[in-house]
Amino acid sequence: MLLQCDTSLADLYTSGAQKSRVLSELWFESNGYCLSCDSAVLRRTQCNTRATDFLCPTCDQSYELKSFRAQPTRSLVDGAYSSLMGKVLSGSAPTLMMLQRNECWTIQNLTAIHHLFLTPEVIEKRAPLSNTARRAGWVGCKIRLDRISPDAKISIITAGRANDPEAVRGAFKRFEKLSMVSPKKRGWTTLTLGMIRNLQAQIFTLKDLYQRESDFANIYPTNKNIRPKIRQQLQVLRDLGYLRFLGSGTYRALI
Ligand SMILES: [Zn+2]
Repeated sequence: MLLQCDTSLADLYTSGAQKSRVLSELWFESNGYCLSCDSAVLRRTQCNTRATDFLCPTCDQSYELKSFRAQPTRSLVDGAYSSLMGKVLSGSAPTLMMLQRNECWTIQNLTAIHHLFLTPEVIEKRAPLSNTARRAGWVGCKIRLDRISPDAKISIITAGRANDPEAVRGAFKRFEKLSMVSPKKRGWTTLTLGMIRNLQAQIFTLKDLYQRESDFANIYPTNKNIRPKIRQQLQVLRDLGYLRFLGSGTYRALI
C-alpha cells in the first residue's frame, strides 16, 4: 500500500476543502480494499456529491470516506440527518473510513468505523439551518464518536504503517453477528459491549456493570429499567457467542 497521495492535481484546486476531497478520494480509490470480503477493489459511487462513497463490487458493502489533518475524537459532522438515519434504520449504513494525513499528504492513520455500530443513539441531530441560509431549514447530523465502542474502530493504517489486511478483515468480520440484532435494538447491545470492554478484564461480574449504571443512563435518560436491560443484553451477547456465563453473576468475554 502506497502511503503518499498523488499531489500532481493539487494545483487545479484553489479551495482547500476541494483539494483535500479530490486527493483523498484518488488515494482511497487506488489503495482502499473491502473489509467484508477479499475484494481488493472499491468503486466510487456517483449518487452523492456531498459525501464520498465507495462500494464493494463483490459484496456491496458501502464506505464513506472522511479525511482530516487532525482526527476528531468527540464527533464527526455528516450530511442530512434523515438520510443517514434512514440508512441506519434500514440496515444499510456505510462503514466510515477516517483518513488522517499530514501536511505533505502522507497518510498517517486510516481507521474504519464498523457500520454495525452506527445505531440511532450515535446519530445526533443538528439545529436546522436559519431562514437566511441558502438551504434554510435543512437538518444535518453529527456522528458521536465518543459513544461508539472501541471495538467498532478498526485500524487499517496506524502511525504511518499499513496493517496486515487479513488481520484487519478478521477484526471487521468478528462483529458481523451483530447484524442479527435489529438496528433499533442494536444500540443497547453495542453499548453493553463497549461497557464490558471498558472494564478491561476478560472475566467480570454483573456487579461491575451495575456500577456503570449512570453511564448507561446518560445515553438512555428516560429508561427506568437499566439493570434489567443490562441483564437482557448480556443474554443477547452470549447468544451471539461474544460471552460465556460462568455462573453466580460472573461472565467471560470471548472477544
Ligand atoms: Zn466486499
